Amino acid sequence: MYPFFKDDVAIQIHKGCVSHFFTCSTLKCKSDVGGVRCYQDKANKSLTANLWHHAIHCFGNEAVNVTVKGEPAVSQSGNIFSSFAHQEQ
Ligand SMILES: [Zn+2]
Repeated sequence: MYPFFKDDVAIQIHKGCVSHFFTCSTLKCKSDVGGVRCYQDKANKSLTANLWHHAIHCFGNEAVNVTVKGEPAVSQSGNIFSSFAHQEQ
């Protein structure tokens, strides 16, 4: 889906509601749960917004913008940090 999240989306039943859990691909996620949980009854639009919001929070605006533009800098999750750090110098 996005390079910011792992491919294996976990399906969880939480209080009777089906939810999908997207695991953050950072080694050290900045959120408490380590990913984004989304309930199936919510619109896809909010899911995408939540995923991007989380990606920007964990990886930074710069890395997300590079991905949106389709540049190959973020094909490996580990490369994000080195390329991002390089730009700040
Ligand atoms: Zn994260």
